[in-house]
Amino acid sequence: MEINKQIVNTKEPYSYTKLQEDIKKLKGKYPFLQVETIGESVQKRQIQSIRIGTGANEVMYSSSIHANEYITTTVLMKFIEDFCEAYTKEIDIFEHNPKMIFNASSIYIVPMLNPDGVDLVTGNVKEGTEDYNHYKEIADQFSSISFPSGWKANYNGVDLNLQFPARWNEAREIKFSQGFNKPAPRDFVGFGPLTEPEALAIYNFTLMHNFRLILAYHTQGEVIFWQYANFMPQDSEEIGKIFSMVSGYTLSTTPYESANAGLKDWFIQQYNRPGYTIEAGLGTNPLPMSQFDKIYSDNIGILVLGSII
Ligand SMILES: [Zn+2]
Repeated sequence: MEINKQIVNTKEPYSYTKLQEDIKKLKGKYPFLQVETIGESVQKRQIQSIRIGTGANEVMYSSSIHANEYITTTVLMKFIEDFCEAYTKEIDIFEHNPKMIFNASSIYIVPMLNPDGVDLVTGNVKEGTEDYNHYKEIADQFSSISFPSGWKANYNGVDLNLQFPARWNEAREIKFSQGFNKPAPRDFVGFGPLTEPEALAIYNFTLMHNFRLILAYHTQGEVIFWQYANFMPQDSEEIGKIFSMVSGYTLSTTPYESANAGLKDWFIQQYNRPGYTIEAGLGTNPLPMSQFDKIYSDNIGILVLGSII
């Protein structure tokens, strides 16, 4: 048995099936991980949370809410594996003691919020199938967006990061005026907030916890967004500055047209606590896996400090 073999492959995009396999393997190797299904996608794929730690300080990291930003799933899966390895071998991770973090905090990681969309963009929905044609019919209405690589939405053509009850009507107005007034590869807010099961799953999951902070992983831009409306959660800007320093990413105010109805927007509104959208990497989505190493090394500080800050 190869004890030191890594489970997470950072060279290949995650499909939903591969993610399920790797979550099982990680749980098998590191039984102290707590895996839980928090909901299902439109097409009944499971959405999981993997919890590291048993401490009272709860935080949540999520990724791949946008389909063509799937490299973020690998970032969080790699973090889980590296943390577990450091914990088991009793070596520091980003100069912090993993045992101390494990006992003080509970890091809830939701690595793939939009499994249906990820499978489309990563080529796991075969051309000619009924599902493929369903996506294609929606995409054909928006011919300037490349297909399937430009797909960010879920199966219903709803942009899951425009589904949260935080100025949802403003988001609707802005996006409708831009032509996204029906199911689309991106930027369609849906027919109401929380109509989509994936958005509802993370919404309910959040309400069942007491998160001190959340990180919502996206690509791209090497930017960290920390604000929502006029909320100024305590420590939020300070923490953002620290994240900016350890990652080299720019700490920025949210641009007006995308300042509504996102997961972090709703979290800040609901709790007045720090929530961050992190736009990892640089280039055109989907970012190539060749960017993984840089993205990961830029973000490891945020991932570690986010759990104890
Ligand atoms: Zn995104």
